[in-house]
Amino acid sequence: MVIAIDGPAGSGKSTIAEMLAQNLELDGGGRFIYINSGNLYRALTLACLKDGVDIQNEEAVVSLAQSVNLDYKNGAVFLNGKNVDALLRSDEIDNAVSRVSANVPVRRIVNDIIRRIAKNNNVVVEGRDMTTVVFPDARARFYLDASADARARRRFDQGVSELNIEKIRSSIEERDRLDRDKPEGSLKIADGVTYIDTSYLTIKQVYEKLEQIIRLKG
Ligand code: C5P
Repeated sequence: MVIAIDGPAGSGKSTIAEMLAQNLELDGGGRFIYINSGNLYRALTLACLKDGVDIQNEEAVVSLAQSVNLDYKNGAVFLNGKNVDALLRSDEIDNAVSRVSANVPVRRIVNDIIRRIAKNNNVVVEGRDMTTVVFPDARARFYLDASADARARRRFDQGVSELNIEKIRSSIEERDRLDRDKPEGSLKIADGVTYIDTSYLTIKQVYEKLEQIIRLKG
């Protein structure tokens, strides 16, 4: 079973997807794997920054993406055998990741990894094109949204950014713009998804809405 969630940065996708995977499993729904697809793009961006690969140079980025060993195990991203999860949330990666993820062959590499995991497992996947390109036929599909103000506030409250709230907001808006403008896998609200604006909802409220719909869909 695939549960797919899309939405812009800071809309609450990761928190909700992780909670769903844990709770559906506890409820006897079998093992559910949580997949954060953005972290795979972030890991490739980290590899580019580390190796000094110019992210504007599409061929160089593809060749790096083909040469590294990228994997997703136990909810964490492994780059060349090393768990890099703790390194993926920097301002530097935030600023570069949308350019790396706009690269079409890179998207194919990431999508293959995700589909391979989903072939043999129940998954809760979240990102930008999970409900559109990767799993258009998922059992349950959601689009989580929130105002740019609410999303900037959440990121600021996480305490991982060195920027002030206005700068975080501009960086999020710039990332939204690039993510909506991609040649493939762009962020959009697909037909048939359940749309939820989380700006004024608590995590618990959002979670309950999704859980109810998933139960209805069996
Ligand atoms: O979800 P998160 O904000 O961590 O994703 C980081 C970036 O990865 C996004 O801004 C987007 O450019 C890219 N991404 C994507 N497609 C996905 C997931 C993430 O292009 N399915």
